[in-house]
Amino acid sequence: MTKPAPSFYFPAPRTEKFCSQCGSALIRRIPPDDSHMRDVCEHCGAVHYQNPRNVVGTIPVWGDKILLCRRAIEPRYDKWTLPAGFMELSETLDQGALRETQEEAGAQIKMGPLYTIIDVPHANQVHLFFLATVLSPELHPGPESLEAGFFDKSEIPWGELAFRTVSTTLEHYFEDKPSGKYPVRHYDITMAVAH
Ligand SMILES: [Zn+2]
Repeated sequence: MTKPAPSFYFPAPRTEKFCSQCGSALIRRIPPDDSHMRDVCEHCGAVHYQNPRNVVGTIPVWGDKILLCRRAIEPRYDKWTLPAGFMELSETLDQGALRETQEEAGAQIKMGPLYTIIDVPHANQVHLFFLATVLSPELHPGPESLEAGFFDKSEIPWGELAFRTVSTTLEHYFEDKPSGKYPVRHYDITMAVAH
């Protein structure tokens, strides 16, 4: 039996050691009127909140085939994934997903609607995938990908996918494909069946 793919990218580091406001050492405690442990600076009083991060990506469709990339970076080096990555500051969800698709596959795409929203609370992440149409079969994988290619349902390396959010998004896509309707799906990966 193959081990189920992990459902997350590397989580954000838990704590910073020093205050970004004044440089003093931080301590971990629950501030007054709060309910969570935080990194607190007792020198200047700053509370350094940490919040979930968005991972944004696409399901790039070329006819009957889906564009996948083989990862050239950890985690999950050598495994296949939909193009996706951490959202950058100052960009929208769509812009982030488009950027990641261009960076990882060098693909020309037209962005479509949001398709899956997947909470990954144990990794402090939310993964969001957009439908996208590939405009040209020409690909130029970037340094984060060993290769990129197009796969129909039977060709997808189901046992070699990098993340559970990717395998689940692909499974939903092929479930919806016969109807041609792709309603937004939102769920919690910790409740999803492991693949
Ligand atoms: Zn401080």
